[in-house]
Amino acid sequence: MNIERLRQKLRSGALPRQCASRTWIGPGSARTCMACDGIIARDDTEVECDDADGRPLRFHKDCFHAWESELEEPDTR
Ligand SMILES: [Zn+2]
Repeated sequence: MNIERLRQKLRSGALPRQCASRTWIGPGSARTCMACDGIIARDDTEVECDDADGRPLRFHKDCFHAWESELEEPDTR
């Protein structure tokens, strides 16, 4: 997990700063993680949530938690 890449995506708008409250956790679907651009393997855990526009966002479980913790920090840097 590359935290700098995640922060860069937040700054550039590639990743939203908020998501809808509903999340789904399940087995990986071999699709791309929004945070690290890696494939979420089928034996890995995938977290999916919708952004404010209803677009699905998919993350590795670890990437999701990294994203969430970035959201909680005020953007003062
Ligand atoms: Zn990831």
